[in-house]
Amino acid sequence: MTQHSETVRNPDLIWRDDGQPVSREFDDPYFSVDNGLEESRHVFLQNSGLPQRWHHWQGPFCIVETGFGTGLNFLMTWQAFAREASTDSWLHFTSIEKFPLSAQQLAQAMALWPELAEYTEQLLQQYPDAIPGFHHMEWPEQRVRLTLIIGDVSEVMNDLSGPVHAWYLDGFAPARNPEMWSDSLFRNIRRISLRHPRLLGETTAASFSTAGIVRRGLKGAGFRVKRLQGFGRKWEMLGGRFELYAGPEPALLSQVRPWLVPQAPDTRRRIAVIGAGMAGATTAAALAAQGYAVDVFDAKGIASGASGNPQGGLYIKLAASENATHSEFYLAAFQASLRLMHQLAARTDTQLWDNCGVLQQAMNEAEEKRQQRFMEVSSLPASLIQPLDAQTATSVSGTAQNGSGLFFPAAGWVSPARFCQQLLEHPAIRVLIRKVEQLQYQTEESQWQLQMADGEVVTYPQVVIATAYDARKLLPDAYLPIKSIRGQITLLDAASVPKINTVLCGETYTAPALDNQVVVGATYHQNDFCEEVREADHEQNLKHMLDFGPDFYNSRHNFRVIGGRTSFRCTTPDYLPMVGSVPNRSDFVQKFGILGSNARKIPAIEAPTLPGLWLNIGHGSRGLASTPLCAAILAADITGSARPISERVIEALWPGRFLLRDIIRKKLSQF
Ligand code: SAM
Repeated sequence: MTQHSETVRNPDLIWRDDGQPVSREFDDPYFSVDNGLEESRHVFLQNSGLPQRWHHWQGPFCIVETGFGTGLNFLMTWQAFAREASTDSWLHFTSIEKFPLSAQQLAQAMALWPELAEYTEQLLQQYPDAIPGFHHMEWPEQRVRLTLIIGDVSEVMNDLSGPVHAWYLDGFAPARNPEMWSDSLFRNIRRISLRHPRLLGETTAASFSTAGIVRRGLKGAGFRVKRLQGFGRKWEMLGGRFELYAGPEPALLSQVRPWLVPQAPDTRRRIAVIGAGMAGATTAAALAAQGYAVDVFDAKGIASGASGNPQGGLYIKLAASENATHSEFYLAAFQASLRLMHQLAARTDTQLWDNCGVLQQAMNEAEEKRQQRFMEVSSLPASLIQPLDAQTATSVSGTAQNGSGLFFPAAGWVSPARFCQQLLEHPAIRVLIRKVEQLQYQTEESQWQLQMADGEVVTYPQVVIATAYDARKLLPDAYLPIKSIRGQITLLDAASVPKINTVLCGETYTAPALDNQVVVGATYHQNDFCEEVREADHEQNLKHMLDFGPDFYNSRHNFRVIGGRTSFRCTTPDYLPMVGSVPNRSDFVQKFGILGSNARKIPAIEAPTLPGLWLNIGHGSRGLASTPLCAAILAADITGSARPISERVIEALWPGRFLLRDIIRKKLSQF
């Protein structure tokens, strides 16, 4: 599916004299110049019963649109939401687009609608490059989120899971674009609607088209449809409501993997997050932005673990042969993280990060080959990744390079501790420096008891565990085959090391100086629990430093070590984090043990899950890239919103995946 090797192109537009964009490919305008905005409001907003439905709405309101185009529908919806929605509601707009406009094309088209300028400007600040896949954007102060999915409707719809409160069926007219209005579109609308029977009578569908294929498609999907008065001279438009649900359809329900169905959202908006590192801080911020009162517990304080290093590299390593879901996740996560960094940095004078770029050196032949293979198949734009020869690598990095490398121009270093601090500065977040020893579920009250190290017990309806490897202590019965990796960084006097312009990654990692210090590291030792800073590990870091290039080699006798730090990262067997709800191990084995005989025969029953308990761990050394998107994923499931990434990735991150894998392989083990 969506891979970095697929090419996406911007549409070929004809700009009429009056400024109207017309698609050359479909020979159809995006909107009408005279009254496009009014028409859009009539056909999509009012036809969906909006903004009235928002007046008393609580929680997320999810819209899915086919055909993002110029963003006009999204922006006019945002404007109406900002003006009319209750402050207890959030807008999550998901839109699918096969031929995304470039930022420049979008700005030109939207210049026709000055009244939307303030929203257009905000969109443009986060608008993605033409890269296939999910692009998640957030404007937390405005309670608005956009997931723009670059891909073909007929494929992308398979990746969505809802809930959807309003469908905007746009896209060029069926006569000009029959492929989009296919059976698969309506089959998926039906599938998604059936997964949310609580939305019976609530979900609406709106379209400018009353063509038979649309009417029949929606009816078949369980919608009662009506032809309504169209805008201005246009005769008709289509409105629908999901009403014709006639009980479960076993064939359809069994296609859903029960462990992917999120828990019903809890209306008590109080939650404890255990762990104040990057995973905990991003999760707390995402939930606080959505109206939750969040208490963050940490035994040692903010960013005391691996998130406490003075600098970390924000970049991803993509491989040509790597599994597609892996790349899909890291690519989407990296871009979401860059957006968040820009947003947070604009809020504070403290230097949180520097997008100075990251040079991934081809430090040996194998790595050089890997990079070459990657670039041969990659269609990622130069704004994301560029192959550099030794000469260019030298001028970009500011230090002599003997070899080539891959350059990530938008990437850079981040101060993880300052990042966590900034995220946790929110009136709805309390940070409590306390150690949680044990968790116990109280069935009668449907809440979790958190037993503190001093014996006190506090209760919360929901809990997120973001304590990396220590999650095993809090969840001794869960099936968590995670590993602890000890990492030591070395700190050097900045005056003793060559000055560089970008982050350098080779056998190890270094960044331009911060506060007169240069960081190098970290080492990688599995299941080594020694907390001391070790001389031998400094030596190892210094040895790897020589490979950063001749300038480093030549100044090796000057290197002056001024400190070090040890921390522990938590990794999983497949190097993807664990994010989501946690299966109740014994019940899960009992109910799904049958998959050991036939992995395809998935029982159509609810997956037993620890109620109100969520996990966000296993970010290894990639937390700067992975945690913001994981927080958005978790917040979506906790609040009952649409997921900001494909269901494929949700399953790949699901904390029960190793339990399921080992049931199927008949290899359950003890940890
Ligand atoms: N909603 C848009 C707006 O507010 O500007 C207008 C949409 S325009 C009429 C139709 C859009 O659907 C175009 O941007 C087109 O590229 C997109 N589209 C057409 N076929 C598609 C497909 N199969 N998958 C995804 N997008 C498609």
